[in-house]
Amino acid sequence: MSTILVNNIDTLVTMNSTREILNDAWLVAENGVIVSSGTGTPPENNYSETHDASGCVVTPGFINTHHHLFQTNTRAKFVDSELFEWLVGLYPIWAELKDNQFLRGAVVGMSELLRSGCTTTTDHHYLFPQDASPELIDITIEAAKQTGIRFHATRGSMSRSKKDGGLPPDSVVQDHDTILKDSQRLLEKYHDTAPGAMTRIALAPCSPFSVTPELMRDTAELAREHGALLHTHLGETVDEDNYCMDIYQCRPVDLLEQTGWLANDVWLAHGIHFTDDEVAKLGKAGVAVSHCPTSNMRLGSGICRVRDLRTAGSPVSLGVDGSASNDSSHMLSELRQALLLHRVLGGAKAMSVMEVLEMATLDGAKTLNRDDIGSIEPGKQCDLAVWDLTAPEFEKVHDPVAALLLCRSVDAREVFVGGKKICNN
Ligand SMILES: [Zn+2]
Repeated sequence: MSTILVNNIDTLVTMNSTREILNDAWLVAENGVIVSSGTGTPPENNYSETHDASGCVVTPGFINTHHHLFQTNTRAKFVDSELFEWLVGLYPIWAELKDNQFLRGAVVGMSELLRSGCTTTTDHHYLFPQDASPELIDITIEAAKQTGIRFHATRGSMSRSKKDGGLPPDSVVQDHDTILKDSQRLLEKYHDTAPGAMTRIALAPCSPFSVTPELMRDTAELAREHGALLHTHLGETVDEDNYCMDIYQCRPVDLLEQTGWLANDVWLAHGIHFTDDEVAKLGKAGVAVSHCPTSNMRLGSGICRVRDLRTAGSPVSLGVDGSASNDSSHMLSELRQALLLHRVLGGAKAMSVMEVLEMATLDGAKTLNRDDIGSIEPGKQCDLAVWDLTAPEFEKVHDPVAALLLCRSVDAREVFVGGKKICNN
């Protein structure tokens, strides 16, 4: 049995039901699962490893619920474009990417996530160029194994190309049957539903303007047969609303409803352009939303109605998106952006540090339907981020937890995934 002790923690942010914050704290994990925590002197034991966290804030590892790791290959490109123009410019560049670039992009993005305190990430991989391997999801799963991050791969898809009225060119789409066959293969090969799982699969048609309603419907049926979640982009831009009215004569949320996607096994990226009725409908159904503030600001898409959605009943988590619309994978920086953006919108009391932390941890876990991550308490996976507050940028801070978001976004000194220390800057 492996028993580890993290000792002398200056500030332990538990995110438990009372949002307890402990000072001079310790925590013990056995075989990757937290068994106890407390303050003062830790229990005597013959620990396999002891880690000293003097001067550090320890938080649950953050959970990133929206990303496209392959886009790490095209950062800072089309810098002044909105979404549709940006996509149409990038599709042909992405169509030329080779297998080793997909692997490299995933490894770089995951490493950046780990360095920035993220211990669980999703990846929405929807691009399958004709000249690349058809098994690009397997490549990203290999990257997760190499880097040690907990990984929810989403098998994305695009089936509606320009000739069928969609946005992407023929060179990056696949047909309906190929998509479903590969989705089934991935679910059977990798989808691990056990507690503590390092790899899960979700299915993720890309967006209303790149797939058919039939694919949305059949994908939902397949995912539900395997107890897997569903993910897509929705409500990102006004252009998308207009597209849906033109092509389907309905709004994006109507399309969701018509295809069987208005359910609590669905999470949406962005979720900006919703009416009051749509917010109520999504909340009632328990549809989760991944808020991606940097990408939304970068592309000028708008601002997610975080407070309204949470009040209505939708879990709202955080996603770095990108990396071509962020243009980074820095998770702590995304927390900072969320905090500041909503204060622009509603004043200094419109968003608190604790609410952003909830989105990055507890709501992330809820979004991914996991009860084994997202907080530091007995029975949870030992997924931690250790933040060294002895650095000059934190000199004289009064509130060390708020300082994480208010001061410059730094890298974590180390993270633990399932009790394994995997990153040390
Ligand atoms: Zn996206």
